[in-house]
Amino acid sequence: MFTDSHCHLRHISQKSAHFPLMLQAMQEEAIPFVMDIGTDAGDFTPRYRAVADAWGEKGRVPDFIHFSAGLWPGRAAIEQQETALVACEADIRAILNSGQRYAAVGECGIDRYWNHAGAAGTGTADLAGEEQLFKAQLELAKRYGLAVIIHSRDGFEVTLRCIDEVGWHRGVIHCFSYGRKEAEAFLERGWYLSFPGTITYRADAATEKEIADLVRMVPADKLLLETDAPYLSPEPVKREVNTPLHIRYTYQRASEYRQSSIESLCTLVYQNCCRLFSIRA
Ligand SMILES: [Zn+2]
Repeated sequence: MFTDSHCHLRHISQKSAHFPLMLQAMQEEAIPFVMDIGTDAGDFTPRYRAVADAWGEKGRVPDFIHFSAGLWPGRAAIEQQETALVACEADIRAILNSGQRYAAVGECGIDRYWNHAGAAGTGTADLAGEEQLFKAQLELAKRYGLAVIIHSRDGFEVTLRCIDEVGWHRGVIHCFSYGRKEAEAFLERGWYLSFPGTITYRADAATEKEIADLVRMVPADKLLLETDAPYLSPEPVKREVNTPLHIRYTYQRASEYRQSSIESLCTLVYQNCCRLFSIRA
């Protein structure tokens, strides 16, 4: 069934009163794998608790839910990176010690939409600091032998330089938002590419063709799909809070673009998640 390689369960719980029912429905639909993604220093415990409280089995969470820990490139984490990184590593250890749940590092990366000279609010002009925080997390992943979930927006060259400098090529470029040339650069280094619900959006014919070509060009063993829920709801539920249950629409569109059945795409993406995150299928 449908695998979701990237979502934020606690953020969903904060936006939807139906969160416990959603977990139940995911179990009933036999969703085999969901990766709950960290964004902030020390957020593993509250994230775990949000799921465990809603699940109602005293301190347990469903077996199909896995956790990552990482620092999204916002101003606070970049300014206080020393303490943030200590908390992030503590979270990685906590996840690794929490049983058979496999950890990953991320999401982390480069965001030049929000961070640039003259940035204000949650963004920062400290671009060197942004790179430093990203590379520190790549080093962390390398040291623990973990996959990395990369957030890269309007910053392809910097992202590529950072991963090349650290020399750790294991992970996924989530919400892939670049073109063919950029996809090739990541793929030839061994990275997975992940597409969200935005591939379901109707655009002009040229844009749609571009997206279809991109989804089609990713080799079968490097393709992932994700919701990034509660964000980026796919069509036709674009106005609703996104949840992993909505990922069916993204599989449907990807299967049209790749001219494969939804069933075989489900198997493919699940196997890719198991391989990337070292989880026994
Ligand atoms: Zn995300």
